[in-house]
Amino acid sequence: MSSTDHTPRLLRVALPTPLRRLFDYRPCREVPACGWRPGLRVKVPFGRRQLIGVVVECPERSDVPDAQLKSVLACLDDAPLPDDWWWLCRFTARYYQHPLGDTIAQALPVALRQGRPLQARHQERWIARDGDTSPLERAPRQAELLAMLRQHPRGLMTRAITAQGFTRAQLEGLLAKHLVECHEERLTATEEASGSRLAEPSLPLTREQAGVLAEIHEGLERYHPCLLHGVTGSGKTEVYLQLIEAVLARGRQALVLVPEIGLTPQTLTRFRQRFRVPVVALHSGLTDLERLDAWDAARTGRAPIVIGTRSAVFTPLAAAGVIVIDEEHDGSFKQQESLRYHARDLAIARAHRENIPIVLGSATPALETLAQARSGRYRHLRLTQRANRHAPARLELTDLRGRHRQGGLIAPAIEAIRQTLNAGNQVLVFINRRGFAPTLACHACGWLAECPHCDARMTLHRQPQELVCHHCDFHRPLPDACPECDSGDLRPLGSGTERTEETLAALFPETPVHRIDRDSTRRKQAFEDILREIRRGEPSLLVGTQMLAKGHHLPHVTLVVVVNADAGLYASDFRALEHSAQLLVQVAGRAGRAEHPGRVLVQTLHPEDPNLRLLADSGYEALAGQLLEERRLAGLPPYRHLALARFEAAREGHVAEFATAAAEALREWLSTQDTSVTCLGPVPAPMERRQNRYHMQLMLSDTRRSALHRACAWLVQWLDNHPDSRRVRASLDVDPQTL
Ligand code: ADP
Ligand code: ZN
Ligand code: ZN
Repeated sequence: MSSTDHTPRLLRVALPTPLRRLFDYRPCREVPACGWRPGLRVKVPFGRRQLIGVVVECPERSDVPDAQLKSVLACLDDAPLPDDWWWLCRFTARYYQHPLGDTIAQALPVALRQGRPLQARHQERWIARDGDTSPLERAPRQAELLAMLRQHPRGLMTRAITAQGFTRAQLEGLLAKHLVECHEERLTATEEASGSRLAEPSLPLTREQAGVLAEIHEGLERYHPCLLHGVTGSGKTEVYLQLIEAVLARGRQALVLVPEIGLTPQTLTRFRQRFRVPVVALHSGLTDLERLDAWDAARTGRAPIVIGTRSAVFTPLAAAGVIVIDEEHDGSFKQQESLRYHARDLAIARAHRENIPIVLGSATPALETLAQARSGRYRHLRLTQRANRHAPARLELTDLRGRHRQGGLIAPAIEAIRQTLNAGNQVLVFINRRGFAPTLACHACGWLAECPHCDARMTLHRQPQELVCHHCDFHRPLPDACPECDSGDLRPLGSGTERTEETLAALFPETPVHRIDRDSTRRKQAFEDILREIRRGEPSLLVGTQMLAKGHHLPHVTLVVVVNADAGLYASDFRALEHSAQLLVQVAGRAGRAEHPGRVLVQTLHPEDPNLRLLADSGYEALAGQLLEERRLAGLPPYRHLALARFEAAREGHVAEFATAAAEALREWLSTQDTSVTCLGPVPAPMERRQNRYHMQLMLSDTRRSALHRACAWLVQWLDNHPDSRRVRASLDVDPQTL
């Protein structure tokens, strides 16, 4: 505290409220050590509550009358939050037209949002106490937990306790009964390893890998966006590892973003085995304190390597040296609710601001990324050969028309499976629908099981037997007879993973069948357990959804069967074809990774479809080129930028009324502006009713981002100020991934 500090008259604060505005306060008497500055966390009175916010600026004047201005209660920091983080928050809020207060809340670890000190690196140690255990008679798990703690007189850390299958709620139950005490201890600082940063030597690179790495090295000290376009198994990860090694040698840090499904123990093991330095992983399993510690380790530079999913893009770094985005085309980098940001796009902005290289890696780059590479804005680096020299398997299109199917599979596919198993190899059957069958149908009258709350069919499940809506999670028992005509002739329509699993188990009773989908892997370790089993290499059958398509090494799989490639071919969404092509290529990439060459059978009702043919005959990049040309002609991204205003409410009429009014107001405003922004709609969303709420949308587009941005800014103001915004929720999706 210093009395010589100039104390500003006012503090303008971003607070975690959905309101698109900032709030003015008077500073409190106690001045933070650094003086009042943007980026400091403050606790303020807000109505009857107290909130924690961040100072945005120190203005001279406020619109709030002096008498109504309240004072900040306390400043929580003696230095502002990290500058790189703060810049990214403001950029994100501006780019996505999202309230700054809520952006900050989403970009800050929970513990900091709740007011914990920034430097704290604590962990909790739980120690059993003596006391009356009679309240535990009705809580057997708590009694077991207490018994375990009593065997450890010095107590146990939270992580050790949860690893035994106990929960935090059980710990807190014991705490409430005064049967345990909780001590907070500082985590020991991790020592920087002396000597080599490497724990194991890096691999000698192939010629292609070496060439690619040399090119990335040409711009290690500046903004240098690179697309690392390499077929599955071409050794992209080895390139990342050696690039990171060079970055660490310069005393800088690496931030690695991976898809949700990619942050597996295997990925982490690969990084941790290679480097001796701390590798911090930001995943959903962390406790709030562990997350704070990880944030702090990145912020202070204690952790030279940070790996995480989408939200890790907001991790502050003491000395950023490179950003790597693996599987950059993956849909999980886009958040699909509230703050609808795209981590890849933010990472590019961040790399640009921090003047560092960024590597986007993929076997099937997003069309946006490919367009940047083709125009020369990103460096286009290619790895065309697998590190083990086997060419990736080709797609063989097989005609489904008029053929009898068993569990979705036609006779030639079943025959190929049999041969592969007989040869002692493994088979992956890819089917992108979980459950037993996409729906239940009445053969007497044509009734289909529909969700009462959504415009969608209900999926038939057998394990357990019920109908489930995959959009709102509504469950209902199977009807005995048709609700329309009372016929008993109800039959499953189509196939999902459970049905294919059942069919294969009946056809190949000697061979184990493993099913991998969201249902079969609900238990925490289930996925890893199955993968470990598969890696042992015994002949076996895998049936799985896209969970299996990404990143996992399945070296013994030599045949991939795609049950149905048609979902994306004629979908209304303009990205559907891009996404299904990516998925097909990723799935195909599972086959023949080791010494066996692979086969990929793709079942389709449209074997003559020109896009599918192009993909099968000439590969992803040829199709991508074709699709880019179509996008250019149709005026779609990446040649035109889009923003979608989304409207939803419980009453259909309310949504339509508000969306129409918004469209009219926007069009009128556009007509007074010198702008080329166009406005389409409003139209009902592709699934208009979901969970009993009605959805409509309005599309804005322009070739210039700045013009689109201005129109969006005007629209969100209009929406916020309209009285209907109380009953209709409106939100803006800049660069929407799905329409
Ligand atoms: P990608 O990330 O492109 O799919 P990976 O980096 O996972 O590819 O590499 C695929 C396999 O090839 C891995 O088993 C990896 O250990 C091996 N590999 C990669 N680079 C080399 C190399 N230079 N020499 C030998 N093996 C390599
Ligand atoms: Zn019927
Ligand atoms: Zn539903």
